[in-house]
Formats: sequence, C-alpha cells, structure tokens
Amino acid sequence: MLEVVSRPQKRLFLVLILVSLLIAGFFSYWLWKISIPGLAVISSYLPWMIGLVLGTILLIIMAGVTGIVLAIMGFRTPRFFQGIAWSAINMLFPMTITIGKLFDVDKERIERSFIELSNHLIRQKHIIVKPEQLLILTPHCIQQENCPHKVTKTITNCRRCGACQVGDLAALAEYYGVHLAIVTGGTLARKVVKTIRPHAVLAIACERDLTSGIQDVFPLPVIGVLNQRPCGPCCNTRVDMTLVEQTVQKFLGQSRVE
Ligand code: SF4
Repeated sequence: MLEVVSRPQKRLFLVLILVSLLIAGFFSYWLWKISIPGLAVISSYLPWMIGLVLGTILLIIMAGVTGIVLAIMGFRTPRFFQGIAWSAINMLFPMTITIGKLFDVDKERIERSFIELSNHLIRQKHIIVKPEQLLILTPHCIQQENCPHKVTKTITNCRRCGACQVGDLAALAEYYGVHLAIVTGGTLARKVVKTIRPHAVLAIACERDLTSGIQDVFPLPVIGVLNQRPCGPCCNTRVDMTLVEQTVQKFLGQSRVE
C-alpha cells in the first residue's frame, strides 16, 4: 500500500487555531455571563474576579497566537512570546482537531500543518549547535522488518547491507559526528533525550508521533521530518535522506565536504 502525503501548509493550522481562539473566547464569555447571578450570591466581587482571571487567560493565549502570526510573517518576537505561543498551541491543539473534524479536515493533515509551522518557527531562529549537541531520533520501523540485527540498543550492530536506511543514517551520523538513536516508542525517545541532553533534535516519525514529540520536549528545538510509508504505517518506513542531511547541515551551520 502506497501512502501519498500531500505537501503540508502552515496556514491550515493557523486558521484552525484562530477559529479555536474565537470559539474559546466566545464560550468563556458566555459561561461567565450566565454564572454572574450565582457568583453574585456568594460575593458581589466574585463575578468581576472570575471575569478578570478568564480575561487574563484569554489575553495571554491571544498574545501567544499573535506571536506565532508575527513570527511567520518574519518579525522577530521576544523570547517570552515563544513560551506563551507554545502554551497557546498546547491549550488549543485538541480544539483545533475537533474543529477540523467538524469541517471534515483529516487529523493527519492538521498535524502535518502543525509540524510545518513548528519547523518554520524553529528554522527562523537559525539555531547552530555543535555535532555532539545534535540528536537524530528515528523510530525502529525504519529498520527492515526481517533484519535479525538489534539496532535499538546498539546501532553498530547494523551491517549496513543497504536493505533499509539504518545503515545510511548511521553513516551520516558518523560523518557529521552527531548522535543517532533508533527508538521503539515515545517513552524510550524521552529517555534518550534525557540521557543525551541534546541542544537540538532532528526527529523522523509519522504525523502523530512528531506532533506529540515536538510538544513533549518543548522548549527543546525540534525539526520534524515526516517518514515515508511505502508499505503502510509502522513497517519498513523510509525517509528523504537529502532532507535529513540538509537539516543536519543547517543545525551545524556547515556543508558537506567531500
Ligand atoms: S541496513 Fe542494517 S538494519 Fe537495515 S537491514 Fe541491513 S543490517 Fe539490518
């Protein structure tokens, strides 16, 4: 089964997050309005205090979303904005998926758009790290399913036979002197990140894993590269090695020397 992945677009996620913000704002106001009489029975100050708290939260989320829009437009945003922007994304993400469903927008399409937007924001920061500070993280479905060599613990077990891209990734990691980890799931991925303590991550995975991974390790900068699934999900997956190498070079601020 061949999976065709359309080119992701940042604006889809952006539009959905703006709609989510509008709906969240409307519902917060409506809830506050209908609860005024009940709150006023307890104390005459309570409606205004609750209103102030809700208004402040909404203003912070709005500031975060504005930060994302400005960053996409190429404006430099203060560092604290980035934290708020990510908090806004985390808060509104489930709502964007629900709204997407209502408009018959595929969840994977929204996730791809989110990954594209996140990559764009990270690339704009022009982060340069040393080779030992960069980690390439990939799921073990990239390994040929019949390969007898266990590579999740020690990549050096790979015989680089060419039947899958583990050998290519190992050679690339060796050439640039960066870390490479092949993991069996999110728990192991988090453990590797905790152990290696990279300053940047190049993560290869499917839409779902990249989305949760990017959100999990924030504020660690992650560039997500979607895997290719010529045999369907979680089996003999592949990756665009040119894109992987270009991303490594960008993080290291260098080009390959032959
Ligand atoms: S390249 Fe390595 S991991 Fe892939 S099939 Fe060959 S030996 Fe196994």
